[in-house]
Amino acid sequence: VGEGGEITYKKIQSSQIMGSIQLGIQHAIGGLASKPERDLLMQDFMTVETTNFPHEGSNHTPAHHYSEFKFKTYAPIAFRYFRDLFGIQPDDFLMSMCSAPLRELSNPGASGSIFYLTNDDEFIIKTVQHKEGEFLQKLLPGYYLNLDQNPRTLLPKFFGLYCYQCNSKNVRLVAMNNLLPSSIKLHQKYDLKGSTYKRKANKGERQKTSPTYKDLDFMEHHTEGLFLEADTYNALIKTMQRDCRVLESFKIMDYSLLVGIHNLDEAQREKSEARKRTDSQSEGDDAEGEPRKGLNRTRSEQGREDFTAQVKRTQSINRQRLVAHSTAMESIQAESEPIDEEDDVPPGGIPARNARGERLLLFLGIIDILQSYRLRKKLEHTWKSMIHDGDTVSVHRPNFYAQRFLDFMAKTVFKKIPSSLKHSPSKRK
Ligand code: ATP
Ligand code: CA
Ligand code: CA
Repeated sequence: VGEGGEITYKKIQSSQIMGSIQLGIQHAIGGLASKPERDLLMQDFMTVETTNFPHEGSNHTPAHHYSEFKFKTYAPIAFRYFRDLFGIQPDDFLMSMCSAPLRELSNPGASGSIFYLTNDDEFIIKTVQHKEGEFLQKLLPGYYLNLDQNPRTLLPKFFGLYCYQCNSKNVRLVAMNNLLPSSIKLHQKYDLKGSTYKRKANKGERQKTSPTYKDLDFMEHHTEGLFLEADTYNALIKTMQRDCRVLESFKIMDYSLLVGIHNLDEAQREKSEARKRTDSQSEGDDAEGEPRKGLNRTRSEQGREDFTAQVKRTQSINRQRLVAHSTAMESIQAESEPIDEEDDVPPGGIPARNARGERLLLFLGIIDILQSYRLRKKLEHTWKSMIHDGDTVSVHRPNFYAQRFLDFMAKTVFKKIPSSLKHSPSKRK
């Protein structure tokens, strides 16, 4: 955060970065239209296109009131191919990225990255370090190989790699899928690695409206874990095993499983409590609790305009996701009946239950995969945590990391619903 409370990144105002990259992306996508579709070639992974954006505009670029900048688009044809694999039409991508202002997310990470969310909730743009950008470029052919064989994956879906250059500063950006819906309340959020070494959300994080907790917090909140139907559990673990094998093959470490939990029963209680409150209050006193997109607002606060906003929100929730195979349920290729479809909840959450039997929807995916184990310095904490957990042979570290990760997910975080808890009495064989 810079002077005057303005968010800055490398001393550039965030609002300027947002506006400029929207111009840059718009130009990049527009430019692709003139390039005919064709098979992907190896060199497509290496190309970089650079465009100047002078104030007064040029033959190809519009005039603007930001600082002059250069915009680089990495592997434009390759990323067009990836977007196509996920069924994203160029027009839709353009609309999502550029037609409305981006929203800035507060980042619990220590790296200082900034995250932007597109207005339609589909995409996230993350600032990455030089090394990470370089690593993604090198990863692209292998990433492509995996995607082609296995589009159902919990790995991040990358849709673009860009660099915004201004005053000889470089801001590298990755566009990817957004995992957490912002239209509903996530009662809990976790960033899980399978490590217990200092894996606790700090005080600043815990004080946020919607904190991102870590492994130790999870074990405290959910001593018995989260319960899934056997089929769902198997699909989830299988997908993660497959994904971790890919990550290990690239010697990637330090990734997390991001898990957002919407508690349907709690949401219902919150709803009826809010109703009770308004019924007993004749005047619209300030309701307690954080009004998250109007969900917790009392009736008296909801004017006519709010109603249209709500209708719009519901419409957008019920719309299919733009990116194919991008919901958690599709990613793990599971087919279980949703627990009591509710119409104000986005599709694709994984049905689960907590130990109290409450109905949950999980939104999840693997994040932060651009750390190769060669980036030693950055990974110091990770080394320490692995030695802490008994790893001794450094060459096997990516393997150790993956094993520990999978072990934690399969045994501590996710559990099969014991057959004794099911409706029908369990039949012993
Ligand atoms: P660090 O390297 O310090 O761990 P980082 O800046 O690399 O942090 P990430 O670990 O990628 O950041 O993500 C930080 C947080 O941002 C996550 O815990 C999560 O809350 C949010 N986040 C990251 N990626 C996504 C995504 N694809 N969808 C939704 N939220 C995300
Ligand atoms: Ca991280
Ligand atoms: Ca990181």
